[in-house]
Amino acid sequence: MSRDTRYQKLLNSKRWKELRAWKLAQTQGYCEICYAEGWRGVDALAVDIHHKIPVESVIDQGEAAMARVCYDPNNLMALCIRHHTEIHQAMGKDTKENIQERKAKKRIAFLRRNDPNFAIEQEQDDACISPAEHEQSCTPCDFTEETTNQKD
Ligand SMILES: [Zn+2]
Ligand SMILES: [Zn+2]
Repeated sequence: MSRDTRYQKLLNSKRWKELRAWKLAQTQGYCEICYAEGWRGVDALAVDIHHKIPVESVIDQGEAAMARVCYDPNNLMALCIRHHTEIHQAMGKDTKENIQERKAKKRIAFLRRNDPNFAIEQEQDDACISPAEHEQSCTPCDFTEETTNQKD
């Protein structure tokens, strides 16, 4: 993974190393989700410090903004590989494109509810947005619980 050099610099600092150690100490080195669930296996050990708000998301706001996000103690999570992967998979669903797409779908669903004659092309593309939306309005679609909630 290629990283912005300014971001790399933030992570190479003494400040980051101290913050990282402090974060890990809070859960005795364990992933904080595993820790909260009472799981203490080897695979529950934290391997990564995750930023809830990604530092990459403020890269175009400059170095000061990046430092703020990077070093905010409340923005950190100590995570095992499994939970880190899960979180990033979930975050992947909320890219700008996905949000735009969801908004568009919501709008279409709204228009359709208010005008029974409203029709668009690409009918079968119109999957459900959320379980709530699913219950409210939908004609049969392929929305399943697993697509939003991948916890086992
Ligand atoms: Zn975990
Ligand atoms: Zn992460």
